[in-house]
Amino acid sequence: MARLKERLSDIAQLASVNALLEWDQEVLMPAKGADARAAAIALVSGLHHQKLISIDDDKTLSLLRKDVETKKLKGEGAVMVTDTWRAYERERKLPEAFVRELAETTSKAHLVWVEARRANEFKRFLPMLRKIVKLKRKEAELVGFKKSPYDALLDAFEPGLTTEEVTTMFDDLKDFLVPFLKQLQSVKGKTDTKRILGTFPLERQRDFNRFVAEKMGFDTAAGRIDESVHPFTTSFHPSDARITTRYKAHDLMYSVGSTLHETGHALYEQGLRAEHFGTPLGEAVSLGVHESQSRLWENNIGKGAPFWKYLYPKLQAAFPEPFRQVPLKDFLRIVNNVTPSLIRTEADEVTYNLHILIRFEIERELIEGSIDPKDLPAIWNEKVKTYLGIPVPDDRLGVLQDTHWSQGLFGYFPTYTLGNLYAAQLYAAMERAIPNLSKEIAKGALSVPREWLRDQIHAKGKRYAPAELMKRVTGEYPTSRYFTEYLKAKYAAPVA
Ligand code: MG
Repeated sequence: MARLKERLSDIAQLASVNALLEWDQEVLMPAKGADARAAAIALVSGLHHQKLISIDDDKTLSLLRKDVETKKLKGEGAVMVTDTWRAYERERKLPEAFVRELAETTSKAHLVWVEARRANEFKRFLPMLRKIVKLKRKEAELVGFKKSPYDALLDAFEPGLTTEEVTTMFDDLKDFLVPFLKQLQSVKGKTDTKRILGTFPLERQRDFNRFVAEKMGFDTAAGRIDESVHPFTTSFHPSDARITTRYKAHDLMYSVGSTLHETGHALYEQGLRAEHFGTPLGEAVSLGVHESQSRLWENNIGKGAPFWKYLYPKLQAAFPEPFRQVPLKDFLRIVNNVTPSLIRTEADEVTYNLHILIRFEIERELIEGSIDPKDLPAIWNEKVKTYLGIPVPDDRLGVLQDTHWSQGLFGYFPTYTLGNLYAAQLYAAMERAIPNLSKEIAKGALSVPREWLRDQIHAKGKRYAPAELMKRVTGEYPTSRYFTEYLKAKYAAPVA
C-alpha cells in the first residue's frame, strides 16, 4: 500500500504541475507564450498518462485488488485500490494513438469554433463537430458501457451515474420547470433590475469580494484570488487552491456572484484532507458534487434573505450609491429575478436548468446516434422555443454559444444541473441538522454551514460514490424533489 500511495502522489504532482501551467495560461501568460505553453502542457500530460498506465507494471495494484476481493482489505484502503483501478482501466483502454487524435482534433476544433461563432456560421463548425462526435462515440466503445454509449462519457465526470438515472431526474425536473416558468411570468410584475447598477471602482470591488471570500472561510494563506475572462477554480494541493473572478465597472453583483460560486468550489479543495493528497481519499468525488458546493454558496445561501440581512448593511456602507436607495427587500427581488434569456451563463436559478436540459437531450442523442449533427441548429432553436418560450435569432446566441462540445466535453453539461439538485438536497439536510441555520447565517456565522459541509462532504474525498455520499448525508439518493420544493418556496412569496 505504501508503494501505491507513493506512485499516486507522483501522478498527482504531475497533475498539479499541469494545473499550474494552465492557471498561469489563463491568468498571467503573455499572448505570445501560447505555442510554447501548449507544448509544455502536452509533455506533462504525456508523462502523467505514462505514469498512470504503468502503475501496475509490477502487479502491486493487481495484488491489492485481490485483497479487496477476498475482503482482506476493507474500508478506506479498499476505496483507494478500487478507485485507482477504475482510473487506470479507463486510461489503459484508450490507445495512445486515439488519445493523440482526440487531443489534436479538439485543440483545432476549439479554434474553428471560435471562428464559427465569430462569423455566426454553424456550417463552419459542422465538419469538426462531426469528427468529435465520431471520436467520442469511439471512446465510449473503447471504454465500454452497458446500455447507452453516453453512460461511458457521463461516468468520467459523475462516476456510477447512468444515462437512465439522469434522464429520469431531468424529465421530472422538466415537467415541473416548464409550467412553473410560465406561471411565474404570468403573475410577476416588472422588476427594475437596473436599480443596482452604478459606478463601482475596481479597487473597492476587489476589497469587497476578498472580504466575502474570507468571510466564507477561504484561506488566503492557502490560496489566491485573481482575475480571468472566464472565472474558474483550480487547486494544486489543499494548501494552494486558487480562484478567479471578473469585474464589470457598472455591475458589482457580477463579480460578487462569481466570487461566491468559485469560493464554494475552493472551500471544497481546501477542505480535502492533506494527508490523503494524491489518493482517491484526498480528491473531490465528482463534478456534480463539486458544482453543488459552488451553487449552494452562490444560490441557496448567497441569494437568500439571511445572508443579505448580514451582508447588505456592509455592502451599503462600501457602496452607498446606489444601494442606500434600494431597500433590502427590493435588492433581494432583483438578485432573484427570473427572466428567460438566450445565454446559459447569464441565466437565473429557474431557467438555468432548462438550458442544461436542452444540451443534455441533444448530446445524448448525438452520442447515441439518433440525430445528425447537421440538424443541430434547428433542433436547438425548437427546444429553446418550447422550454424557454423565446426565439433564437442566430447561432451565436444559440447552438454555438458554449465551448464544451468543441473541446470534446460530452457528458459534462448534466453535472451543472446535478450540482443544483444536490445543493438543494444538501441545504435541506443542513437545515434539518442545524435548526437555527438561518439565524447563524444572518449573524454572519458562515463557519456554521462551512464546517458542516467540510465534515459531511469535503473531508470524505472519494470515500463513497456520489449517489452513495448523497444518501449518507441526506438520507436519500439524488432526487430533483428538493430543488423543486426550494423554488416553489422561494417564488411562492416575495423573497424578503
Ligand atoms: Mg462551477
